[in-house]
Amino acid sequence: MKSQIIKIIFVLLMVMFSSVQATINVFACEPEWAALAEELGGDSLTIYSATTSMQDPHHIQARPSLIAKARRADLLICSGAELETGWLPLLLRKAGNANIQPGQPGNFEAADYVEKQGVPKNLDRSLGDVHAEGNPHIHTNPENTLLVADALRQRLSEIDVDNAKHYLSRYADFEKRWTQLMLEWKKQTNILQGENIVTHHNYWTYLNRWVGLIVLATLEPVPGVSPSSSHLAKIKKQLSQQKIKMILHVSYVNERPTQWLSEQTGIAVITLPATVDYQGGETLSQWFNIVIQQLVSVQ
Ligand SMILES: [Zn+2]
Repeated sequence: MKSQIIKIIFVLLMVMFSSVQATINVFACEPEWAALAEELGGDSLTIYSATTSMQDPHHIQARPSLIAKARRADLLICSGAELETGWLPLLLRKAGNANIQPGQPGNFEAADYVEKQGVPKNLDRSLGDVHAEGNPHIHTNPENTLLVADALRQRLSEIDVDNAKHYLSRYADFEKRWTQLMLEWKKQTNILQGENIVTHHNYWTYLNRWVGLIVLATLEPVPGVSPSSSHLAKIKKQLSQQKIKMILHVSYVNERPTQWLSEQTGIAVITLPATVDYQGGETLSQWFNIVIQQLVSVQ
C-alpha cells in the first residue's frame, strides 16, 4: 500500500514537472537586444534589460541588482565591439556564471555578425577612443537587425534545443514583417539622400549610411569626450559655407553643445530616441518608426 502511494505521488510529480515550461533567462545589455530576443522567443524567454533607452550604454554601474540578474542568466546578449567594456567585464567577474563568460554559447555579441563601420586605422587609446573595434551602435541600421536576428535565432536553438522550431518560426515571421517595414522606411527617407548633417556623438553612423546622409562634422572631438567651446567655434566656422539639413542628437547625451550650435547657425536639432523603450512596452519596429518619422520631419 505504502509503495503504491509513493508510486502515485511520483507519477503526479512527473506530470507536474513536464507541464511546467522551463524558460531561458536572457540578460540583455541594451534594450534593443531585449526587444529582439522577445520577437524571437516570446514566452519561452524571461528577459531582463540592464539599461534603458535613457542611459548611456558606455557607462553604467555594475550594481548588485545587475550582478544578481547576470548570475541567473542562461544567455547574455550585448552589442559588443567594446561598447560595454567599461562595465561588463567587472559584472561578469562578479556574477561568477560560467555559462555566460566570453567564448561560451551563453555569451552573444551582436557586433560579431555585422560589418562594422568606423574601425580606426591608427588606434591611440590615450585619446579616450571608446570605439576602438569600430562603431558599436550597430542597431541603428535595420539591415543589421536582421543579420543579428538570424544569428540570435541560431544561438537560442543551440542553448534551448527543444524549442528550435519555435525560434525558427518566430524568426521567419519577424523577418517577413521587418523586411516589409524596411522597404517602407527606405521609401520615406529617399528625400534625405545626400543631405549634409552634423552629429554630436557618432551614434547614428549605421543609420546615416543606410539613409545616405553625409556627416560633415561630429561635435565630440573623440567618442565620449565633450567638445570644448573652442572646438565648437571651430566647427561653426568650418560649417559656415555649407548647407546643413540638421544636427542629429541622441536622447541620452547632454544637449548643451548641440543647442549652442543650433542657436549660432539656425540649423534644426533632431533628437532621436537612442533605442527601444523596452521597459515601457515599446517594440523594435515602433521605435524605429519613430526614428524615421523624426528624421523625415525636418523641412
Ligand atoms: Zn558610442
